Amino acid sequence: MQVNVEKLVLEVEAECVDLFNRVSSRSFQNQKKVLDAFRKNRVAARHFMPSTGYGYGDDSRDKLYRLYADVFGAEDAIVSPLITSGTHMLSIVFFGALLPGDHILCITGTPYDTLHRVIKGKGTGSLEDFGIKYSEIPLLSSGKLDFDSVKNEIGRISPKMVFITRSKGYSWRQALSIAEIEEMCTFIKKEDPNIIIFVDNCYGEFVETKEPTDVGADLIAGSLIKNPGGGIAPTGGYVAGKSHLIDRIASRFTSPALKTELGSYNASYMPFYQGLFLAPSVVASALKGSMLFGHCFAKLGYDVNPQINSIPTDIIRAIKFNSKEELITFIQKIQYSSPVDSFVTPIPGAMPGYHNKIIMAAGTFVQGSSIELSADSPIKEPYIAYLQGGLTYEHCKVAVIEALKSLFK
Ligand SMILES: *Cc1c(COP(=O)(O)O)cnc(C)c1O
Repeated sequence: MQVNVEKLVLEVEAECVDLFNRVSSRSFQNQKKVLDAFRKNRVAARHFMPSTGYGYGDDSRDKLYRLYADVFGAEDAIVSPLITSGTHMLSIVFFGALLPGDHILCITGTPYDTLHRVIKGKGTGSLEDFGIKYSEIPLLSSGKLDFDSVKNEIGRISPKMVFITRSKGYSWRQALSIAEIEEMCTFIKKEDPNIIIFVDNCYGEFVETKEPTDVGADLIAGSLIKNPGGGIAPTGGYVAGKSHLIDRIASRFTSPALKTELGSYNASYMPFYQGLFLAPSVVASALKGSMLFGHCFAKLGYDVNPQINSIPTDIIRAIKFNSKEELITFIQKIQYSSPVDSFVTPIPGAMPGYHNKIIMAAGTFVQGSSIELSADSPIKEPYIAYLQGGLTYEHCKVAVIEALKSLFK
């Protein structure tokens, strides 16, 4: 197939004007929300100062906790460069909030790949080893939450925690919207107000103007090398939510008694503040980029997810390719269009925490950062590439042009 790529991209941009404007208006509201939190918390240059050792009285760290809590409409938060990844953060939340005998009910089907071994496994230190039970309810074939089954299972097993994955992860579905999460939170709290509702918020932050904690979730957690780090935070994770739960999670994060009194970082905290400040705008660029990729490939007859002609509910764009070769070419072209390691050719390989071989394009400033333009795919049928991020819309545009040119010439 021969395609006039430049013409196609211009057509798509013209089609997307309305959608892009709506994304800009959300980004404006989120920017205001973040700025309000900076003002309320009187952030000053001294809050960027490094600390050492135990980090007693580290004002920069404490201020960052307050800032995240306010931005996410939560009572309290923990945000730390000492948390190695999103998986680490989610794991701390499970172990901190739950006790042996407690039951987790996941209501969005199978959780993100790297959580499987957090939840299950014998002799590995998993939740199962600690006597924490787990079960899951798949989404309906429509991709919607299954309210009937949720009600039945709550009655049957009395879960201590309901776990929700907001984003699609490596699955062919739409991410949940905040409206859907709100409806479910209200429903669960009516069934049993003591259930802890925990949302894996990865890839969802600032996509809408509210977060799950604004609409009834007790806890949210995510990675700082995704949305809320704004492409600037070099590492870390966060959890935000009800203060009595954050307190228990703090006991697990450091240790009981020490909780959040300790934790130093002997480098400037500025990237965490600046990243949060930039995040609304960076997420908007990623969303516009996702729509550009989605509309271009849909016009060429490819299946894409989420559907086009609406604003995505997370920053992941899934594209279904016709063959493994096409998929690999696409991922390699994303790498070629990256600012770092553009000369490297990615090939499928094993990754810790994942079952299938994975091919990844990750030519990012921060290693593995997926708020920067990146793409990855497990090598299995159907051949789906998961693309995410983009610090600037223009970068996404350059990359889509390169990818389309190599696929269609
Ligand atoms: C990325 C991600 C995780 C895990 O985060 P890592 O930083 O890769 O460990 C968990 N859940 C979802 C939905 C994610 O997108």
